Amino acid sequence: MTPQPRQTERVESKMTVAVHEIGHAWAYTSAGLRLRYATIRPRDARLTGVCRPWKPREVAWDTYAWIGAAGPIAEAVYTFNSEPDEFDFEDHLTAAVLTGGCDDYEVAGHMLDAADVIEALRDQLTQSWSAILSTAERLLEVGTLTGVELWTGLTPAAGRGNVAYVKGRRPAQ
Ligand SMILES: [Zn+2]
Repeated sequence: MTPQPRQTERVESKMTVAVHEIGHAWAYTSAGLRLRYATIRPRDARLTGVCRPWKPREVAWDTYAWIGAAGPIAEAVYTFNSEPDEFDFEDHLTAAVLTGGCDDYEVAGHMLDAADVIEALRDQLTQSWSAILSTAERLLEVGTLTGVELWTGLTPAAGRGNVAYVKGRRPAQ
């Protein structure tokens, strides 16, 4: 996928930001990694949302890239489903990368360019969608969720087998 500006202006709703952050949180949880918190009210005004893990340096780079990709892809699933328009899923993903996922693109670049990874992640997110959506709604309501709240909300959805994502490999723990 090559990011290209979209024709229409797109307003980033708070729910879109919440789904984006919960996309990352879902990926952390799926990889068995604990989070400190996720927020849509970060102190840093340049950011729209933050998803903060414990010990981020212990995350293998390919797992980290996959987690980076999960935010924009979750956001694209949400906007694609909730904003019926003439754009296809890839357009929505491009918009997600351009509006809030520039840093994600830096860590996940190769994965956000790989159609098979996008497809696989989109499938997995869709399978966990009801838990992702309800956790995102909760985040929208309260602004910040603790690691325990995220884990509780997303663990049933994350399951145990979901981490077999990149060419069938489990992430190094
Ligand atoms: Zn992100």
